[in-house]
Amino acid sequence: MLRRLLRIWPRTRSRVRSEKEKITRHSRPACGRQAQGKEALSTQRIAKKGEEIDGMRKKVTVVGGGFVGSTTAQRIVDRELADVVLTDILDGPPAGKALDMMESGPITRTDSRATGISTANGDYSATANSDVVVITAGFPRKPGMSRDDLLKANYDVVKAVVEQIVRHSPNCIIIVVTNPLDAMAQAAWKVSGFPKSRVLGMAGVLDSARMSAFVAMECKVSVENVHSFVLGGHGDDMVPLPRYSTVAGIPLPDLLKKERIDAIVERTRKGGAEIVNLLKTGSAYYAPSAAAVEMVEAILKDKKKILPCAVYLDGEYGIKGLFVGVPVKLGAKGVEEIIQIKLTAEENMALQKSAGSVKELVSVLGI
Ligand code: NAD
Repeated sequence: MLRRLLRIWPRTRSRVRSEKEKITRHSRPACGRQAQGKEALSTQRIAKKGEEIDGMRKKVTVVGGGFVGSTTAQRIVDRELADVVLTDILDGPPAGKALDMMESGPITRTDSRATGISTANGDYSATANSDVVVITAGFPRKPGMSRDDLLKANYDVVKAVVEQIVRHSPNCIIIVVTNPLDAMAQAAWKVSGFPKSRVLGMAGVLDSARMSAFVAMECKVSVENVHSFVLGGHGDDMVPLPRYSTVAGIPLPDLLKKERIDAIVERTRKGGAEIVNLLKTGSAYYAPSAAAVEMVEAILKDKKKILPCAVYLDGEYGIKGLFVGVPVKLGAKGVEEIIQIKLTAEENMALQKSAGSVKELVSVLGI
């Protein structure tokens, strides 16, 4: 059996190679499909003989190899969703983390490749033709730093990153994670010049997951039975919606007393701070990376999944020209639809207040 395999192996291998030579990374379906027409054609090319072909897996770049970035990369690799390029301005850590992930492959049984690069020299060529780019690069708030100082510092980071990403991956979909989330997503969209469908921010998936975890703990049921709904900006005035949150399809107000629901809503709003206080240094990264990867997966697999994401609103929910968290349909084209749900006057007021906070940040940046 082994001898027979060895005899046919060279033949099979050369057939596979010549088939591969006809195909390039640029004709991969994810971005090709979403970038129909001229955009897709301009990046399409046929590989020349002998040219290295990376394969047919999707490609995701994760910018920022800190806690959120590296766990995002790890989850993508572990689930074999795509090959990952992890970048940071630091020299060494992204390469070390990527190699570490590669070395876990034989155990976790994943063939996804991880590459780690430093972009300190401004070279983003290794990120070229990514299908999705997740931006987690940024500074944490340091003592003595005002919110506005942090806002401007992270704006500079996001601007510099997006300029490079657009050059090397003109057809990608950008998912922003860097805080302050909604303002950074708006900045990324503005700098990229991309259509609004291809830039979105991660917050609602995380905030809803936190709410679901608290509901599951309260009701002592599986998290799989719980579905929660959080809208608005990623701040203390986010808008958890108990009416739209369910346990096995039953709305929360039919299951829990008002004080218990209020406590869950309050804990959800302060979910990030609760973790920061426990960790002492740094902020949450397990749930944030899981949330980012849920969005990546919905796009790469064209799932048409409805998830709450920060997206550019152009009149929806009475909000114009601003990134705010609302339910959207996520698929290969990015944001394929903004879902408008009916809100009570009180819920709408809370959403408008939350949008007002985002507007304040955006106007500080003048974008
Ligand atoms: P971290 O400090 O561990 O990682 C940030 C990384 O960015 C660092 O490794 C740093 O070297 C790198 N970096 C800085 N400037 C860069 C640049 N120009 N190019 C490439 N890399 C650069 O922080 P973290 O815990 O990973 O969090 C990352 C960001 O995500 C923060 O802004 C945080 O507030 C935010 N965050 C958002 C959510 C959300 O719900 N949207 C949740 C958690 C964290």
